[in-house]
Amino acid sequence: SQSAKQLAEFGKQHISRGISRSTNLVIERAKGSYLYDVQGKKYLDFSSGIGVTSLGHCHPKVVKAVQEQAAKLNHAQVNIVFHKPMLDLIGKLKPVMPSTQFDSFFFWNSGAEAVEAAIKLARHATKKQNLIVFQGGYHGRTVGTMSLTTSKTIYRGRFGPLMPGVHVAPFPYCFTCPVHRAVPQKHNIINCCDNPIEQVELLLKQQTTPDETAAVIVETILGEGGYVPPPKSFFPKLREICTKNNILLIVDEVQCGFGRTGKMFAIEHFGITPDILVMAKAIASGFPLSCIVSNKELMDTQPPGSMGGTYSGNAVSCAAALATLEVFEEEKILENVNNRSSQLFSLLNSRVKSLLPPHIGLDIRGLGLMVGLEFTGVPPGFAAAVAKAGVENHDIILLTTGIYETLRLIPPLTVTADEINDGVERLSQAIDMALK
Ligand code: PMP
Repeated sequence: SQSAKQLAEFGKQHISRGISRSTNLVIERAKGSYLYDVQGKKYLDFSSGIGVTSLGHCHPKVVKAVQEQAAKLNHAQVNIVFHKPMLDLIGKLKPVMPSTQFDSFFFWNSGAEAVEAAIKLARHATKKQNLIVFQGGYHGRTVGTMSLTTSKTIYRGRFGPLMPGVHVAPFPYCFTCPVHRAVPQKHNIINCCDNPIEQVELLLKQQTTPDETAAVIVETILGEGGYVPPPKSFFPKLREICTKNNILLIVDEVQCGFGRTGKMFAIEHFGITPDILVMAKAIASGFPLSCIVSNKELMDTQPPGSMGGTYSGNAVSCAAALATLEVFEEEKILENVNNRSSQLFSLLNSRVKSLLPPHIGLDIRGLGLMVGLEFTGVPPGFAAAVAKAGVENHDIILLTTGIYETLRLIPPLTVTADEINDGVERLSQAIDMALK
């Protein structure tokens, strides 16, 4: 049989170079918090496939639901019929929504498709065109969503013309605030406290009038832009501006939703209700499924036929999502997220901070098991070097995020206390190695 190296070479030869890949691992199977390569070598997975396999890989209950559904009904096209797994899923989703006003759903395959749908819904409902997004936001790679994405130029550079009518406000980034954090750093942008809110107000006075602005689209916690949670006051103020100006508030919880932050949806930490909530990734534990939800009156402003897609709300994916929600209840997943989160933060503050010489700064931030570690005073490429040392020498999968030196930790929500201890140990060894 071919060696792992040969297989990786074959992949490099025949898979588009436009995909970036943070490792050269060739994976054959996975279980719980571990990935296994073709040689049977085991890796602790602190990426969860970018926040998708939140119940751990191949959770038995999800696997069983998928197997049973695959034997019963794979594809029941939504423009032709209702199908039972989707109806059951909606029944199970409704009670976990952050507000009872969320009573109308629709499903797609990817996060980007769902964001596209949210844009279309907002434009159709408001009869307005323009959109306000936030700097560092990531919403996808389709032509529409890349026009909203400002986390890195690689996602949009030379793919234009981009969609017009998109205005960018700064996202609060308290780490950079010289008033609140005296940390040694090169980037010194004052995007903290109320400044981003004032910038939104300025946009509405200087660039796009409220009567041409359909929606504000925002990630509750920046994901690809650096794992940045906003201050508590940000969302209530943003909600107020949107309501006052008749602008819809769309919250993209593709990465931060579905239990990742210790609440079912991250927006619950901020005490406001958006008009449209977008979810994907962890919703179906690895099967392609995404969803937008709003109140029925808003959703039904779109005429029949204007929404949908061949595979929208695939029956097997819906069955996986239903089983995922059942496991959330049965295994008290949110409780585990909160317990493991406290453990993780305390270990990072003790073990990891103590590794660093005084000239290196570290911001440990996030909610639940969505944790960012931003290093300052390190050479460019340091975070990537830690991730590389992690996979090559310490058998742990770590990801970077954003344009600064930031690692993100996204273990499965089912991670055990021992796996957190082990993961932090491996991370520490990888940091140690990158420091040398
Ligand atoms: N929105 C956010 C916040 C995301 O993190 C992502 C994916 N990283 C997307 C949208 C796009 O999702 P997909 O890759 O499924 O299209």
